[in-house]
Amino acid sequence: MGLRHLTVQCQCGAAYERREVRIPIRDIGSFDCTDCGARIEIWSGKMVPLFVRVKTPEDTRRRA
Ligand SMILES: [Zn+2]
Repeated sequence: MGLRHLTVQCQCGAAYERREVRIPIRDIGSFDCTDCGARIEIWSGKMVPLFVRVKTPEDTRRRA
């Protein structure tokens, strides 16, 4: 099974590339949009998501 890649779009226009990584111990955490603070995801377990921002709200506005 390969890495699952997908792009998550926030309501503010920011976009994040999401990957999952397996960690050796259970983790509980959450990720909030770094631009608007909206909750993107909450996780609990050994598969935790990593988010890399690929688009800022400014990028979206410029293109619109
Ligand atoms: Zn946002």
